[in-house]
Amino acid sequence: MTWFAETLYPNVRQSFAIEQVLYQGRSDFQDVTVFKTKDFGRMLVLDGVVQTTERDEFVYHEMLTHLPLFAHGGVRRVLIIGGGDGGILEEVLKHPVERVVMVEIDAKVIEVSREWLPTICGRAFEDPRAEVVVADGAEFVAETTERFDLIIVDSSDPIGPAEILFAVPFYENCRRCLNPGGAMVVQSGVPFLQGEEAANTYRRLAQVYPHAGFYVAPVPTYYGGFMALGWGGFLDLKASAAAAAPRIAAAGLALHYYNAAIHAGAFALPEYLNARIG
Ligand code: SAM
Repeated sequence: MTWFAETLYPNVRQSFAIEQVLYQGRSDFQDVTVFKTKDFGRMLVLDGVVQTTERDEFVYHEMLTHLPLFAHGGVRRVLIIGGGDGGILEEVLKHPVERVVMVEIDAKVIEVSREWLPTICGRAFEDPRAEVVVADGAEFVAETTERFDLIIVDSSDPIGPAEILFAVPFYENCRRCLNPGGAMVVQSGVPFLQGEEAANTYRRLAQVYPHAGFYVAPVPTYYGGFMALGWGGFLDLKASAAAAAPRIAAAGLALHYYNAAIHAGAFALPEYLNARIG
């Protein structure tokens, strides 16, 4: 049996039984690998870190899209930073949005995902409402004159090209790009193992927006407990469950994790995370 051991943490590793290496290469930014694993289906790995798998991608992709979309209730223009596997794009396009701009720094991730992970991106990249921009997300938000109702930061962890997406200037530029009533949501790691990242993300979001916080979701391959999803904006997501419930019911989307009860419960944070964000 061949095994892949993830190298995200110095003292803790998780390993996956591998049936086949479907793709292995290096882009201008990172090592890109797609494994066929025994228990998680196809898996995208960047620089040795699990990004997404066919088996559990739905948890993360549904929670980082449908929760803010139903909380807002009137999103027409969405900006996705990162998200090269297309999973976030595919979920956003299930809503009656007018335009989605996805800014991914690495064209190779898009190319490899379209070829080897079609069950994750579906036909999202062909949707006429979607525009894919290959660029640094931090530069894009610093320069664009476009305005968006929702910004979703589906970046890798704050190492390598993604590090700039966890800094205050990036959040300030995202704020500049938001329409009134808008919000942004960001992947903020697994606080049980990446507590500093969660604390830093909250402090920076709270510094830039009138409302900020976390909600959580258990993504098995982002191991160490639940993942913290940071949010900030002119809309108080934490108080959105009552408004979201009828919108969720009316939309009738066939989802596998997110629902109205999960929306309400996701903001219930344990004391060790509350202590991190003061
Ligand atoms: N769901 C995964 C997670 O939570 O770790 C992230 C998946 S997605 C593949 C992460 C993407 O962010 C990668 O394709 C990477 O190339 C992209 N990325 C990293 N830094 C970026 C930047 N500065 N601008 C735009 N995209 C970036």
